[in-house]
Amino acid sequence: MKKVAFYTLGCKLNFSETSTISRQFEEKGFLKVDFQENPDIFIINTCSVTENADKKCKKIVKEAKKISPNSYVAIIGCYAQLKPKEISDIKGVDAVLGAAEKFRLIELLGDFAKEQDAKVLSSEITEAKSFNNAYSINDRTRTFLKVQDGCNYGCAFCTIPLARGKSRSNTIESVLESAREIAGTDVKEVVLTGVNIGDFGIVEGKRNERFADLVFALDNVEGIDRFRISSIEPNLLTNEIITFASHSKRFVPHFHVPLQSGSNTILRRMGRRYLRELYEDRVSKIKTLMAQACIGVDVIVGFPGETDELFLETYNFLNELDISYLHVFTYSERANTRATEMDGIVPMKKRNERSKMLRILSEKKRRKFYEENLGKTYTVLFEEDVEDGKMHGFTENYIRVAAKYDPMLINETKQVTLDYINDSGNVEVLEPEFIYEKH
Ligand code: SF4
Repeated sequence: MKKVAFYTLGCKLNFSETSTISRQFEEKGFLKVDFQENPDIFIINTCSVTENADKKCKKIVKEAKKISPNSYVAIIGCYAQLKPKEISDIKGVDAVLGAAEKFRLIELLGDFAKEQDAKVLSSEITEAKSFNNAYSINDRTRTFLKVQDGCNYGCAFCTIPLARGKSRSNTIESVLESAREIAGTDVKEVVLTGVNIGDFGIVEGKRNERFADLVFALDNVEGIDRFRISSIEPNLLTNEIITFASHSKRFVPHFHVPLQSGSNTILRRMGRRYLRELYEDRVSKIKTLMAQACIGVDVIVGFPGETDELFLETYNFLNELDISYLHVFTYSERANTRATEMDGIVPMKKRNERSKMLRILSEKKRRKFYEENLGKTYTVLFEEDVEDGKMHGFTENYIRVAAKYDPMLINETKQVTLDYINDSGNVEVLEPEFIYEKH
């Protein structure tokens, strides 16, 4: 029995795809093992957004060869699609597969026999037209369910359309089938994942269905406690979806909505499809209907043309906005994107200073959000991780809660009252009622 190990860089989508590819291997009789367990084959799923993608890829290949010097190493994922030639030159790499090939890896690589030169099986990205269903089973608690892939937007800084191709989706019927399959396992929470999830519904270049209808249909799937939408563009987060979420049975009051900049000048330069006024309106609609909702924001600092004044516009906009946390990205140049041609390059030192300012703001926002929720009762889905004798879980509205470790609680949802914020910045539960319920 050949042993195969996987390593994933990047986003939830990559994790869901690695997980599905690993199940293909298991179905064919391979034994899935950990990275250190002398695998015969390594599959490395790369990301193009990650800083220093090339260095990371080289490092993982080097580690793999240290563990199993005679192993077969195949590289897949966004970076493999963007730079197949460079990757095939890395010492120790046996095969590079592009976006259109990665789900046919076993069929294409056959018996994984090593050859003199690395095999490059990577078509042009325009060939990646079909949708490959995927979901991850990483732990028992939560799964990432891929419903959409690719993007038609072409923002000035982004390489994802080059690495993943045009927008395409699963059908509602097929997503429901996967959701029912997942419901038959122990998993309690499903995170809907895609590149541009709000654009769900395009099959073979034609829009057939709508994301809102997918949400309505999934809400009726018995056996899953929660659905979370991973991230959705503000212009696609409609009033219909927000209103539905406010009285939904299973969709949680947590929205992650990329803003990228709070300056309309920069938003236009980025080629984003909305202005700050629309974003403000989305936040206010969510908060009016769901005062307890958690709102996460992606923001990029140091985009070309972002002067001190324009950065302050972003800072002040976010400071005033009723949001719960930020994911801050420091702009870095990516080959073949429009942004690399733009003037107004921001020195790296400034980019880093701005990033630091927004990270501090994010902490302030998170703390305020947590404080507003103290004394309230929520449902926590407890996970397996244990730190200093404490276990953790998330509320519906994405508050990380610590409680005294109890193995009986792993992968259970329990109602708790949020007591205080501990030194690690998590909300802690003093005496959860459920401790007594069990006796
Ligand atoms: S919406 Fe813009 S940033 Fe997001 S994947 Fe598409 S092109 Fe990239």
